[in-house]
Amino acid sequence: LTTGLESAWNKLRGTDQLTKDNIAEPMRDIRRALLEADVSLPVVRSFIESVTEKAVGTDVIRGVKPEQQLVKVVNDELVQLMGREVSDLVFAKTAPTVILLAGLQGVGKTTVCAKLAYYLKKMGKSCMLIAADVYRPAAIDQLTILGKQVGVPVYSEGTEAKPSQIAKNGIKEAKSKKTDVIIVDTAGRLQVDKAMMSELKEVKRAVNPTEVLLVVDAMTGQEAASLVSTFNVEIGITGAILTKLDGDSRGGAALSIKEVSGKPIKFVGRGERMEDLEPFYPDRMAQRILGMGDVLSFVEKAQEVMRQEDAEELQKKILSAKFNFNDFLKQTQAIAQMGSFSRIIGMIPGMNKVTPAQIREAEKNLKFMESMINVMTPEERERPELLAESRERRIRVAKESGKNERQVSQLVAQLFRMRAQMQKMMGAMQGQDTPDMEG
Ligand code: GDP
Ligand code: MG
Repeated sequence: LTTGLESAWNKLRGTDQLTKDNIAEPMRDIRRALLEADVSLPVVRSFIESVTEKAVGTDVIRGVKPEQQLVKVVNDELVQLMGREVSDLVFAKTAPTVILLAGLQGVGKTTVCAKLAYYLKKMGKSCMLIAADVYRPAAIDQLTILGKQVGVPVYSEGTEAKPSQIAKNGIKEAKSKKTDVIIVDTAGRLQVDKAMMSELKEVKRAVNPTEVLLVVDAMTGQEAASLVSTFNVEIGITGAILTKLDGDSRGGAALSIKEVSGKPIKFVGRGERMEDLEPFYPDRMAQRILGMGDVLSFVEKAQEVMRQEDAEELQKKILSAKFNFNDFLKQTQAIAQMGSFSRIIGMIPGMNKVTPAQIREAEKNLKFMESMINVMTPEERERPELLAESRERRIRVAKESGKNERQVSQLVAQLFRMRAQMQKMMGAMQGQDTPDMEG
């Protein structure tokens, strides 16, 4: 997939404005990426629509390439859709806080009960678990074992009692023990059905929960949207927990949850161990869904412009007044590649308020100069003095690059001006310690 996206970005390279036209194809690839990640179709549709709207007309060049700009729009929109910020658990104003867990069978509710208790215990809260899944004796045993494992009491009444009654009794017990947080485990079915929903409603009425968290398996495919919607409409959820993110699923369900219910994902499960529960980070999820880790790290790299060693090398050259056409080329190529020309300009005193038009102009100039440098001999690039001293050489460079002599002279003069300017800049940056470079 990453490859697919990258080829989409490649198509954008060289354009300096995002238009409906030039983003159409990358957007098709993004759409495909979302569908491959199992984001529900209606969610994909509205996403593509809103990204397109935001992207078109974006003033591209603020120091980034168009594809980087689009990555950013896509990424931001994904993050926005999933809630932007980390959503914490809500605690009741007066204890106890009651958390009701709901979800289909096998998604990880019982495991989440114990994981949450473990998490809350570390926060210094006392917890109690209530076993309100009465359909399989094994479910009660499972919760009891997990409760022991994390050192949290489990309230159960066997399989005969009604879930809502068990929950009510459990809360009474927890209150008498001054428990801070009560987590209620419930029964799930393989599919949404009426009996499950009405039982959940009954339990909810009985316990008056602070949080109703829908537990969703990250592998839930296209049906995530309707699943979330049904639970939300029927029982009303306050958030979700996405489990089994340690698998290969790209977790498109995450995108559907917030979009459909308007409720945030609060935690993710990343394994079967008790410590495998983490807060949900929308930005990390965005990268996972799009599989654009590489593209984003490219953006980060772009912001650096030059690697540390290049910078150091350059500094040495500047200080010893040996900045030549090779360095010039390396610089301009690095700048062009990384698209961060504005950053460089921003670093030059008095030039930090450049407009996009000025940057475009500057980038064009760089291309122009590059074509002349490309036809210079290795010695000429190494020692610009050769060109300054020989008209013959300048005429040859002009001829081979299809420019005129005056333009070559200007380039040579500019290099020497740059040398001088850079020395001055470097001197200013280094303050009093500037070595004498006039020798
Ligand atoms: P429930 O039916 O919703 O209560 O689901 P369970 O809590 O019984 O979990 C079903 C299975 O999924 C168990 O084998 C759990 O160990 C496993 N499971 C739960 N959460 C995760 C997770 O985040 N990652 C992985 N790999 N397995 C999990
Ligand atoms: Mg269970």
